[in-house]
Amino acid sequence: MTKRVAVIGAGPSGLAQLRAFQSAAQKGAEIPEVVCFEKQSNWGGLWNYTWRTGVDENGEPVHGSMYRYLWSNGPKEGLEFADYSFEEHFGKQIASYPPRAVLFDYIEGRVIKADVRKWIRFSSVIRWVEYDAEKGDFEVTVHDMVEDRVYKERFDNVIIASGHFSSPNVPEYEGFAQFNGRIVHAHDFRDAREFEGKDVLLMGSSYSAEDIGSQCWKYGANSVTTCYRSAPMGFKWPDNWEEKPALQKVEGKTAYFADGSSKDVDAIILCTGYKHYFPFLPDDLRLKTKNRLATADLYKGVVYTHNPKLFYLGMQDQWFTFNMFDAQAWYVRDIILGRIEVPTDKAVLEADVVERVEREDADDDVKYAIKYQADYVKELVADTDYPSFDIDGACEAFFEWKKHKAKDIMDFRNNSYRSVITGTMAPVHHTPWKDALDDSMEAYLQN
Ligand SMILES: Cc1cc2nc3c(=O)[nH]c(=O)nc-3n(C[C@H](O)[C@H](O)[C@H](O)COP(=O)(O)OP(=O)(O)OC[C@H]3O[C@@H](n4cnc5c(N)ncnc54)[C@H](O)[C@@H]3O)c2cc1C
Repeated sequence: MTKRVAVIGAGPSGLAQLRAFQSAAQKGAEIPEVVCFEKQSNWGGLWNYTWRTGVDENGEPVHGSMYRYLWSNGPKEGLEFADYSFEEHFGKQIASYPPRAVLFDYIEGRVIKADVRKWIRFSSVIRWVEYDAEKGDFEVTVHDMVEDRVYKERFDNVIIASGHFSSPNVPEYEGFAQFNGRIVHAHDFRDAREFEGKDVLLMGSSYSAEDIGSQCWKYGANSVTTCYRSAPMGFKWPDNWEEKPALQKVEGKTAYFADGSSKDVDAIILCTGYKHYFPFLPDDLRLKTKNRLATADLYKGVVYTHNPKLFYLGMQDQWFTFNMFDAQAWYVRDIILGRIEVPTDKAVLEADVVERVEREDADDDVKYAIKYQADYVKELVADTDYPSFDIDGACEAFFEWKKHKAKDIMDFRNNSYRSVITGTMAPVHHTPWKDALDDSMEAYLQN
């Protein structure tokens, strides 16, 4: 009987898995029946923009955490698919920091070409997954939202690609319940224009705080304040942007910080991160990990050590994204096709995790972290037929990006880099990022 494989989620990771299987089939391999379940009505994961917050049209938690005017926060040269370049998709080389709509179009282009949409059941929420030790397979419970029907199906393997930047981590602070303004988590932030003329406080010192603060600044906030728990971001901020140490409490509209200073603010945006959250998985299948480069309990970063028939994609903190998901997807595909063997001794799987964790912990330098993840991508690519590409070149783009951010945080997106897939230099975008208020694909692709 043909093997059956369930993929949960049709974001970049799940789509990478579909493309991996399709690519093997294209080369003549016999592949299992692949069924991808996606709770949204379209593919693209986080890149499938929604204006909604809270619950979606079916009453399910909204998956999307992306906002209008979001431009890639790293150079596209670091994420380019090795089997589908930007030039192939757009018919020309494009600038290095595309807005969301442009990246969505690119992600979609590859899977339209691969013709894998037919493998996806949209508006289908996975409610539960259970492993049947006797039969050695999984029972998956699905809620088809269009038909409003709950059904069960069995699969030999399950691949979790449901993402981990969707369930917000929401702290509580003294005075929040009485705050005379808006408090919103980054997950529900949609449009910076809402904060035009306002004094905005962002809690956090990672990408969300940096980028949402920059959006608010760009679209006319009166002032931006960010506060950190461990260390400031330390960029050269515009005049109306200041960094404060940890928030202590709020009273009325006044926020008080650890250094005794205070600031009156109209809104508080919680850039306090996300949880790995899998409400559809029982204890014995559920990944419990911190957001880090070496996740807990995943051999080679993808095979669940407690049940090697279960795989997870994209669960790491990410420098590399799309091409790392590809490397993982090709690797998992080859395990399922029997081309790569997973050791049967659980101790070996666990030792692999320990080694990865120790190696990550050996240094907290950013360059080290980028190289660490690059090595991981190289390791997986080497074992499959995913087209090899200049991963060191991608690291160089990341190093340059870091330098450009340090030089001018509001200008870094005006730089361009060389594609590590086609070798072509990206053009400089026609309008500086801070003046480019239209984030449509048409505007971005104009010469
Ligand atoms: C605000 C923000 C900005 C970002 N910017 C960038 C950037 O500029 N560049 C970059 O490379 N990366 C960026 N990222 C990182 C992002 O994580 C990856 O680009 C990518 O979207 C991860 O893909 P994924 O498929 O693993 O997860 P997701 O994109 O989250 O997709 C997971 C999919 O699983 C589905 N799903 C979840 N639960 C279920 C269920 N129970 N049943 C069925 N389906 C389910 C979801 O609906 C979704 O479609 C950003 C992330 C965020 C939050």
